[in-house]
Amino acid sequence: MKAFPLYEGTYSVDQSKKFIPFDPAVHSRSERPGSLFISVQPFLIDTGKELVLLDSGLGFTNQQDELILHQNIRNQGYDPADVSKVLMSHLHVDHSSGMVQNRHGRYEPSFPQAEYYVQREDFEHALLKPSRPAYQPMLEAMQRSGNLVLLEGSGSIDGNIHYELTGGHSEFHQVFRLESEEQTYFFGGDVLPEPEQLQRRFIAKYDFDGRKSMELREEFGLKAASEGWVCLFYHSDTLAAGKVRHENDTFLIDPA
Ligand SMILES: [Zn+2]
Repeated sequence: MKAFPLYEGTYSVDQSKKFIPFDPAVHSRSERPGSLFISVQPFLIDTGKELVLLDSGLGFTNQQDELILHQNIRNQGYDPADVSKVLMSHLHVDHSSGMVQNRHGRYEPSFPQAEYYVQREDFEHALLKPSRPAYQPMLEAMQRSGNLVLLEGSGSIDGNIHYELTGGHSEFHQVFRLESEEQTYFFGGDVLPEPEQLQRRFIAKYDFDGRKSMELREEFGLKAASEGWVCLFYHSDTLAAGKVRHENDTFLIDPA
């Protein structure tokens, strides 16, 4: 089993909520006051039996009108058409806009051969209250597609892929664990989006339940350390994958 980060770039986001490309080699953070800086990085997992995608990125396209997500999968030597599972931590736009692509004026699943695993309540809430208007037709396209698998709570998909409803970051956020004999990958979505977030205790305003998120980070950090999991960090531009140690009450993360 092997994981490949599919880095989509770093962006600044201001009150307009638009994602504007940010290249630290060219731009400086002070040029964009009042902005958050976010890196976006879905993951492709080759389990040896199938290809699994963890979250689906921003849905941006390149100059050939190809999804950057597809291009990044090809760059790793794989064909996007071979992805058989898409595991969705939650439906915020920076994680889910690549679920579909616009073809000839209508949305279709970007991975037509894949089953998409989404928490049922997350999907239903997003459909009722889309975070932006353009989002609703995308969700409706997923609903029509026949590719959608709605999960309830926590459980296991095929014995090797486990999902856990956590809440915290968003009301129905879920995390995933992929197990093989040699390796366990943990994908914490936005409950554990960056390694640095293990290294300080804080309650974030952007979380649905900031205290719960803080407790979850600690809980998963401890489990990752004791079980030897490799953690995959969706919003990190410093470290895509890391193993966690817990020493003298502090977390240390080694590249994996
Ligand atoms: Zn989020």
